[in-house]
Amino acid sequence: MKIICIGRNYADHASELGNAIPVEPLFFLKPDSAVLAHRHPFYLPDWSDDVHYEVELLVRISKLGKSIAPEFAHRYYDAISLGIDFTARDVQAEIKSKGHPWEKAKAFDGSAVISRDWLPIDSFKEGAQNIGFRLERNGHVVQEGQSQDMIFGIDQLIVYVSKFMTLKLGDVLFTGTPAGVGPTHPGDTLEGFIADRSMFRVPVR
Ligand code: ZN
Repeated sequence: MKIICIGRNYADHASELGNAIPVEPLFFLKPDSAVLAHRHPFYLPDWSDDVHYEVELLVRISKLGKSIAPEFAHRYYDAISLGIDFTARDVQAEIKSKGHPWEKAKAFDGSAVISRDWLPIDSFKEGAQNIGFRLERNGHVVQEGQSQDMIFGIDQLIVYVSKFMTLKLGDVLFTGTPAGVGPTHPGDTLEGFIADRSMFRVPVR
């Protein structure tokens, strides 16, 4: 199973980090070892002083596909969930400035929170077009997003990524984070919601 993450897919988040609005999707991978075990706390790594939460809608790939055509893209995913793309922002800033790959900042153990609740696409009235989600830190809303605000929609992401790599059953696509990313500290609790449904609750240690 691979985890494909999209960067800068919400205009308000791209600008909060001083990045240009992309003209094509930007993606990177996390290994399966990055998945935070269910009901486990997230332990802040000792090699970073600035780990940020990024709440993201997740898409589950339901069929093997390569070079998928736009009109068929919707057939390759069947469920939506919610997760966090934990990012060591200080490390990322350093490797970005050197033009190095992002893995150290993005692919470390526990950096991928994936809710176990997968909601079938059919359960959303408008499909994946209009899904509201949010992240609360210690009970206060810190990030809010709407799937319609993605720069590249899910179908476009599937088409684009599958040009370069085969998508397989069970792969997970992180679709990018809206504005409001920020640091997390020991003792925090991060809880994510799709509409009013709690999708995960992660204590930070
Ligand atoms: Zn992200």
